[in-house]
Amino acid sequence: MSDVIKLLPDHVANQIAAGEVVQRPASVVKELLENAIDAGATKVSLTIEDAGKSLIQVMDNGKGMSMTDARMAFERHATSKISQADDLFQLRTKGFRGEALASIVAVAQVSLKTARKEDELGTHIELEGSIIKSQEPVVTPQGTMISVRNLFFNIPARRKFLKSDNVELRNITDEFHRVAMIHADIAFTYTHNGSELFNLPATGLRQRIVNIMGNKVNEQLVPVTEDTELVKIHGFIGKPEYSRKTKGYQFFFVNDRYIKHSYFHHAVTSAFEGLLRDKHYPSYFLYLTVPTESVDINIHPTKTEVKFDNEHEMYAIIRATIKHALGQFTVDTIDFQKEPQYEVPYDLSRQTTPSAPKIEVNPDFNPFKEESFDAARKTPSSQSFKKPVDPSWEALYTGLDEVSPQSELIDETPSVPQQEELFEASTQEKQIFQLQRKFIVTPLQNGMLIIHQHRAHYRIVYEQLLQEITAQPGVSQQLLFPIMWELNAADRSVLSEIQTQLENTGFSFKFTDHSVEVTGVPMLLNESEVLQTLQEVIEDQQSYHGDTSQSFSQADRLATCLSKNMAIRSGVTLSRKQMEQLTDQLFACKEPEITPDKRKVFIQMTGSQINSKFN
Ligand code: ADP
Ligand code: MG
Repeated sequence: MSDVIKLLPDHVANQIAAGEVVQRPASVVKELLENAIDAGATKVSLTIEDAGKSLIQVMDNGKGMSMTDARMAFERHATSKISQADDLFQLRTKGFRGEALASIVAVAQVSLKTARKEDELGTHIELEGSIIKSQEPVVTPQGTMISVRNLFFNIPARRKFLKSDNVELRNITDEFHRVAMIHADIAFTYTHNGSELFNLPATGLRQRIVNIMGNKVNEQLVPVTEDTELVKIHGFIGKPEYSRKTKGYQFFFVNDRYIKHSYFHHAVTSAFEGLLRDKHYPSYFLYLTVPTESVDINIHPTKTEVKFDNEHEMYAIIRATIKHALGQFTVDTIDFQKEPQYEVPYDLSRQTTPSAPKIEVNPDFNPFKEESFDAARKTPSSQSFKKPVDPSWEALYTGLDEVSPQSELIDETPSVPQQEELFEASTQEKQIFQLQRKFIVTPLQNGMLIIHQHRAHYRIVYEQLLQEITAQPGVSQQLLFPIMWELNAADRSVLSEIQTQLENTGFSFKFTDHSVEVTGVPMLLNESEVLQTLQEVIEDQQSYHGDTSQSFSQADRLATCLSKNMAIRSGVTLSRKQMEQLTDQLFACKEPEITPDKRKVFIQMTGSQINSKFN
């Protein structure tokens, strides 16, 4: 039998190797941006089409390449940045493996135009799947422009594997952020399908972070600095009260590289201990500088995971530094963890300066008026509140006053009160009262029922919204004065993903160049809570990196997040009428027992349970 081992042809070997470097459009973006920076550029522009699937282009004004270098650049292990293995430990540049361009050309159609300062004519090279198609002199400004078209054109399986445009674009934007956040002194632009997402002038670090994350971040930042032999730290942390429900704003950079480091992440979060609300995460932008020989950045091909010689000592230094910064900024000593979210009136828990609780005062309150629910929350209209989830709810309610004596026959409490017979039959008027401005208590035929008012309304609004999002758009209240909403490009793209669903719930938006105007909001939403609510919805969606085609779960998340914000809070005084409405609507729901996030909405106590307490 003849020999069977063959050497793989170069282009196949390149394709296989490419898999390590080029996983998705964002990986190409990262490599190209880093090359531009290594080339000493002061201006870099990134142009993307179709989330990088059609085009990824990076143009820089760096030092450019000679004709020979331009050809060499696409060879595997071609790099100008190291010449011996020792250099690996002294790295100051970003790239060093000489693999990026070779990998990219193996799986795309690439055009390169480059010229150095001293060149009269530059070089233009076209390649496709590692093969040079053409090379000619060209008039081009100093610097380099690389265009990568039709990524994975020759590996259909990989192309098919790419996620939706929204997801791929988000990944690209993440990479762009990471690079731009290290190089505040370099000007960047970023354009997608012809519209400019970012235009970042050269500036200082704080301003760069603000330019990327949005103006509102500025007031949230606390500076951090520390200088030790092992590590120098500078950067910013977010004030604890601005902690987020997603881990979005968490950045570690080491020697000007973005890294992920769960151990150091722990150091930061543990410094925040006791200062954060439940399920909230701190924001941080931390830049570490360590001696190059004490770090091994070469352990992972995409170089986001690194190993340090002195991790334990660094952990302690990072933690102490953050604690110190937090202490200097003298935080309120409120221990959020002692105040579960559900126990605190939502509004109050967020107010930074105390002010009179507005929602409870309403001089126009008229308990005899049909639309009494307006009273408690001002803007919400009863029209929307009373909108039945199931048309039969009204029957349920009217039936209450005419409970027949037969209901006395019921002697066992069913797990869920389904019918009006459950309620105390002896009196014409149902007895119902509010306890601690938080619970609604009402006698049952065989005991009593205690309903958590916020959770009950949360369930009601949730089911209503879900229906609006998926089937039957709800009513909008148009705002007399539209609310300006400044949001960064990433948030904006999330917004456009869920725009239709939001509009179904009653929101309406007007997009302008750099901001969004909210012109209408759902009936139940207080105007003062609009931005906070929308921001939470966006964060919530961002934390959800699943397949956006699962529209049900997206609708579900949206309805959950919105309804939590729209539901009446604990601490709000309810009128008798409101309590009755709430009770009726709750039991007209499909799943009255639990909130959308699976908490108990009500409890029942049977007569014998009450009796046993008197033993
Ligand atoms: P590495 O960055 O690891 O050296 P790459 O494949 O990314 O490997 O690039 C190969 C070489 O091509 C670089 O070492 C550099 O000399 C040259 N090069 C790549 N991009 C640029 C650019 N934008 N400007 C100037 N030179 C570049
Ligand atoms: Mg490189």
